[in-house]
Amino acid sequence: MTKERLITGKTKLLGVIGHPVEHSLSPAMHNAALAQLVVGEASRREDIANLGLDYVYLPFPIAPHNLEIAIAGFAAINVVGFNVTIPHKQAIMPLLSEITPVAQAIGAVNTVSRQNNQWVGTNTDIEGFIAPLQTIYKQDWSQKVAVILGNGGAARAVVAGCHQLGFAKIHVVGRNVQRLQDFGNSWSNSPISENLQVHQWEELPKLIPQANLLVNTTPIGMYPKVDESPLSVEEMANLPKGAIAYDLIYIPKPTQFLEQAEKQGAIAIDGLEMLVQQGVAALKIWLQQEIVPVEVMRQTLQKHLGLS
Ligand code: NAP
Repeated sequence: MTKERLITGKTKLLGVIGHPVEHSLSPAMHNAALAQLVVGEASRREDIANLGLDYVYLPFPIAPHNLEIAIAGFAAINVVGFNVTIPHKQAIMPLLSEITPVAQAIGAVNTVSRQNNQWVGTNTDIEGFIAPLQTIYKQDWSQKVAVILGNGGAARAVVAGCHQLGFAKIHVVGRNVQRLQDFGNSWSNSPISENLQVHQWEELPKLIPQANLLVNTTPIGMYPKVDESPLSVEEMANLPKGAIAYDLIYIPKPTQFLEQAEKQGAIAIDGLEMLVQQGVAALKIWLQQEIVPVEVMRQTLQKHLGLS
């Protein structure tokens, strides 16, 4: 029998704001999880409502000039929480009552929740990024060196994540001197700056042999550049055996970067788990419960990405 997903006057609202937002995978991932909670925990309509697990997650395309009015509207219609994607991750910050220290450190918000009639913003990308490093590849990172390729938005979560894991050294490599310098300076009031160094791309040959963790945060390797890698084969040849190569890109699987790294004897981690775990962390905040259907979320993403 097909399980019917009923929307009623009691259904609570979650969602994602962005511009555009139609390609977001979050609605599929979160609605699969929410449907599972409903089906798994209660079979009758009243039970579902009583358990407070009656949610739906919608995509909201919101143009930048409508952001403020949209957030006020969300408060008026009792939206429980929402994800924030491009181009609103920074612009939303002045509209929130509270911003968690992690989101402040990154300088961007990807998750907002309504708490005591106020909007609270946080960033779950750090949790997403470090999840596989804290579980499957858990180890003492305090003597380890991270080399991060790229200095854009995602690199900020990666730097903060590496700091949280306790890396001894965090090297960030970028191609634009001014943006790289700004990136380095942006951490000057944070303890992160003690372990952080920024480098131009030309310095890579001396950094790769030191890397215990090498992270690609550039879009090189994703569509349409699927045949490209941020590193040449010669550069990758200097990656120590047993190092971890982590690509934030989740499609194609594997990327050229990860394929080359595996040939070198490195451990490869792709970006899918980060995507899953940033969503898991957000859902835990909104539902105020620790148990969410992680496997359903992972499988839904794999299915939508054509990976299963
Ligand atoms: P972004 O803010 O645009 O940053 C991209 C960075 O890559 C910038 O530092 C940019 O340098 C650099 N870059 C771009 N092309 C380059 C090239 N040809 N050579 C050298 N550096 C280059 O993007 P983002 O939001 O950080 O996202 C980056 C990647 O991470 C994307 O592929 C995205 O899909 C992925 N991502 C994945 C997850 C996940 O959950 N798995 C989450 C977030 C992001 P310039 O500043 O010089 O342009």
